[in-house]
Amino acid sequence: MSTHKDIVFLAGDGIGPEISIQALKLLKHFASIYDISYKITELPIGGACYDIHQVPITDQILDRCKKADAVFLGAVGGDKWDNLPMKFRPESALLKLRKGLGLYANLRPIEIYDGLDSISPLKASITKGVDLMIVRELTGGIYFGNPRGIKEVNGQKTGFNTMQYCEDEIKIIAKKAFELSLQRSGRLCSVDKANVLETSRLWRETVDEVAKSFPSVKLSHMYVDNAAMQLISNPRQFDCILTGNMFGDILSDLAATITGSIGLLPSVSIGGKTILYEPVHGSAPDIAGKNLANPLAAFSCIGLMLKHTFKIDKADVLLNKALTSTLEKYRTSDIWQDGTTKLGCSQMGDIFIKNISNFT
Ligand code: NAD
Repeated sequence: MSTHKDIVFLAGDGIGPEISIQALKLLKHFASIYDISYKITELPIGGACYDIHQVPITDQILDRCKKADAVFLGAVGGDKWDNLPMKFRPESALLKLRKGLGLYANLRPIEIYDGLDSISPLKASITKGVDLMIVRELTGGIYFGNPRGIKEVNGQKTGFNTMQYCEDEIKIIAKKAFELSLQRSGRLCSVDKANVLETSRLWRETVDEVAKSFPSVKLSHMYVDNAAMQLISNPRQFDCILTGNMFGDILSDLAATITGSIGLLPSVSIGGKTILYEPVHGSAPDIAGKNLANPLAAFSCIGLMLKHTFKIDKADVLLNKALTSTLEKYRTSDIWQDGTTKLGCSQMGDIFIKNISNFT
């Protein structure tokens, strides 16, 4: 059965274009293996879009993404645009895109790849066998709350933001997390700060309410500060973590430490017609343009795209085999170890694709 999909690639800034080129190369390779067809449209976002259109995302680009089956986003941001007013900063395009596409759930799988259990700064006895999923609410919370701004209060500049969640926003993401837990081990930990924040108290009450419809899921609650500590001291206790926008943002970067590099973590965002695939990492200005970026998070995003958008489950097996055989011998700088050959981003892409061919 042939499946035609409309895919938008938004490469963005910094290492975004470098990893996007590799991701597109991989998708094209998969098209030669499986019976899939697609149309690719490449558009600018973030600083790259600001430089052309004086906004980080245009209404036309957002509308084009709304029509697509899937969007791949590299990364946005960089020093060049850091001093712009908030609404012109590259990062505001991410918020507008996620909100515009109605992507309320961001799923961040965190697992240790074969052969990489000793690259984390954490002991292998702690990281071995970690396989967890962070379910992050993506279109609400403090990143979107109003009022927000900087104004003069009592003669001095004062910054303020609003952390806000309504019951419906919590219910919908909680339901998704419970459903995902049922597909995994049936354990779900909801992370909040209910000891000091009203938003979190409502979060906890609402999650408990949703739990009544999922009696076979074992639900627990944890404060975010403890969750941060537990994630790096005993990560295997977690299977599925449900949390709000900002806590999820921070905890998933922390969880990158478990795997050894943020360059390994993919994410998929769902909720509307279009599915968004983006690595967890940012635009990494410190290594941008040096062919040093790890493209594996982007490759895993393509793996997720094959599964969720193209409905090809078997690509997972092929990707994992290629990953294991590639990582045995070859690494990018961020995950390099003695006895392996250091490769740049584009060479890693070439070797990875060659290894996929070896298994087909
Ligand atoms: P970052 O994720 O870009 O980088 C953090 C560290 O991880 C850096 O040392 C970087 O070199 C390294 N790193 C990141 N991705 C890597 C990869 N694929 N391979 C190897 N090493 C990698 O986070 P940051 O430094 O806090 O932010 C840089 C810029 O990215 C900022 O402008 C920020 O706002 C933006 N940002 C964008 C996104 C996004 O587009 N989704 C997410 C986070 C941050």
